Amino acid sequence: MEYLKGVGPQRADLLKKELNIYTFKDMLELVPYRHIDKTRVNQVRDITPQTDFIQIKGVIRSFGIVGEKRAKRLVAEIFDGTGTLELIWFQGITYIQKSLALGQAFLVYGKVSFFQGKPQITHPEMETYSREKMEGKSTLEPVYPSTEKLKARGMGGRQLGVFTETLVKMLQENNIPEILPDSILQHLQLMPRYKAFTSMHFPPDPQTWEKAIDRLKFEEFFIAQLRMGLLRQQRHRYSRGVVFSQVGEIFNTFYEKHLPFQLTGAQKRVIKEIRRDTGSGKQMNRLLQGDVGSGKTIVALLVLLLAIDNGYQGCLLAPTEILTQQHYNNISGLLKELPVKVRILTGSTKTKERKEILQQLEDGTIHFVVGTHALLEDSVKFKNLGLAIVDEQHRFGVAQRAKLWQKAVVPPHVLVMTATPIPRTLAMTAYGDLDTSIIDELPPNRKPILTVHRNDDKRSEVMSFIKAEIVKGRQAYIIFPLIEESEKLDYENLMKGYENVQAYFPEPKYWISMVHGRQTADVRTTNMQRFKANDTQIMVGTTVIEVGVDVPNASVMVIENAEKFGLSQLHQLRGRVGRGAEKSFCILLSGSKLNNDARERLKIMCATNDGFKIAEKDLELRGPGDIEGTRQSGALNFKLASIVQDKKWLEIAREMAERLLDEDPDLTSANNLQLKNHLQSLTGKTAWSKIS
Ligand code: ADP
Ligand code: MG
Repeated sequence: MEYLKGVGPQRADLLKKELNIYTFKDMLELVPYRHIDKTRVNQVRDITPQTDFIQIKGVIRSFGIVGEKRAKRLVAEIFDGTGTLELIWFQGITYIQKSLALGQAFLVYGKVSFFQGKPQITHPEMETYSREKMEGKSTLEPVYPSTEKLKARGMGGRQLGVFTETLVKMLQENNIPEILPDSILQHLQLMPRYKAFTSMHFPPDPQTWEKAIDRLKFEEFFIAQLRMGLLRQQRHRYSRGVVFSQVGEIFNTFYEKHLPFQLTGAQKRVIKEIRRDTGSGKQMNRLLQGDVGSGKTIVALLVLLLAIDNGYQGCLLAPTEILTQQHYNNISGLLKELPVKVRILTGSTKTKERKEILQQLEDGTIHFVVGTHALLEDSVKFKNLGLAIVDEQHRFGVAQRAKLWQKAVVPPHVLVMTATPIPRTLAMTAYGDLDTSIIDELPPNRKPILTVHRNDDKRSEVMSFIKAEIVKGRQAYIIFPLIEESEKLDYENLMKGYENVQAYFPEPKYWISMVHGRQTADVRTTNMQRFKANDTQIMVGTTVIEVGVDVPNASVMVIENAEKFGLSQLHQLRGRVGRGAEKSFCILLSGSKLNNDARERLKIMCATNDGFKIAEKDLELRGPGDIEGTRQSGALNFKLASIVQDKKWLEIAREMAERLLDEDPDLTSANNLQLKNHLQSLTGKTAWSKIS
């Protein structure tokens, strides 16, 4: 950057540190956050109370210092032939006063306010008369995001415009060549690339600026979608995968004799999709989306049996001990009459047992292992891993997925199951390299969960309600929030809550289980099991029970301080009930003082049970950066475009990218040459290129 006129080594250094601007390209891509409109000269006569920023040309009629001490100010009157405007300065008075002269013409710019019915501008920007300037500027003036340090060195938001102006004047059309194919430009009526960049900085009017921004947003999405598409395509074409050629004995026996229920249509469809993938000879990388309770586990199990029938081992990764334990109990229970050897491996597996498991995974005695992150360790080796299932994906990053692939010579098929639905736009960007299956149907006879919001002062009524449910043989969860910054406070809060619940539900008439993060895994599991076995009627806990826990007899979910939870977390928690055939309830307790966002969240929870709708809303309220697990993905680092506000462009970009790759998969056509060159120049700069 130091080679740009007016920058020099010291300022270049600061630009690097403060704004990450290293090259001309970075500078060119710096997006103004607003523009100042000095293209028009307004008239004083036209000023109304709604007027915001204006530019006036006129002559100074009077000026002088008024007031004393802190009220001391310089006041001038400027007249433009249609009326008089007051100009006020509180600072730099002496200096400014010297530059003023009666009868002198000025171009004045600033924000209008009213004082005693008269319009005025405080600290206006002043330019002395000169004929060409009198007609206003020919373009809008950019204002860029800046920092305190930059401002101190004369590089505030507007001053940076001097650099971009120099830069834009230097660059010719061939410095910013078009990369999009003509057909797309024409079809979407997009602004050419060179014009888009120059107009982003210096547009003649707001409409042109919008067209420029639209073009650049589209380009950003389009390039990203194209890269994802290329990755997917490449994987489909080149990545060899193990072949599950047959549906064998174990699968069939299980399906006919041990399946505890009829599969839903959606479950069957998804299994078919997976069958097709795993039989194709290519490696499967599939994202399985389904709302809480839609029955992803049984799908995982059936796919697993498919792998085992074909002579391969499988593993299932879960995010917590409790979930891992539950999957293990569940699966080994279902498989107990079948010749399948299942083991569990977690951080708390004892050394001796662990040794044995590692040994048997390596010699192939164990067919299937359920585990936590412990499974990812290098010491875990398989004889022939053919399938890796990742449950509740949002806690696993791309890097961890990649670790799984390395555990076999031919990478295993990977099935990623999400805990909550991912909004379409997010799935397209953050998980665009995966193929997707969706379970969009809940098992039959589910009664929708009734969700209500109650103030804290209704707690005793809520407790009475729980009592009535327990009398009917049901069970209840009572969940307390977990705010990581203060573990001690959370703990105290939970204990207070627990005592409170105990007061309503005294032993031995009632029994209460409690789980929280400070317990050892053993204690937690025991308490969980007691609740599952209906030895305890109430489960008090923190969000450690959040994902996946399955106790069909539980019919009430009470969430304390519900305002402190995010939407997807609330939905996850609610998904713990409504799993049996009984009518279930979710009660959101909160204080009476709620901010707008919290109020909105609780309202949505009461209004819908649809996880996809909730996910969309969550994305809207929180923005993509905050959605768990996506932060590091790199896929969301768009400079201009937003997957929330610019959905429309994302959809179009996706469609265009797919169409282009269908027509010209290797971008060999002359029309796509520029595009291909551009893509090649990007290789290696994003997370996606490292995935495969
Ligand atoms: P999730 O998709 O949230 O992981 P689970 O796999 O835990 O859901 O399934 C939720 C509950 O629904 C479990 O109790 C499971 O046994 C049950 N279930 C799954 N599929 C069906 C089905 N087709 N018919 C009836 N019950 C089902
Ligand atoms: Mg689950």
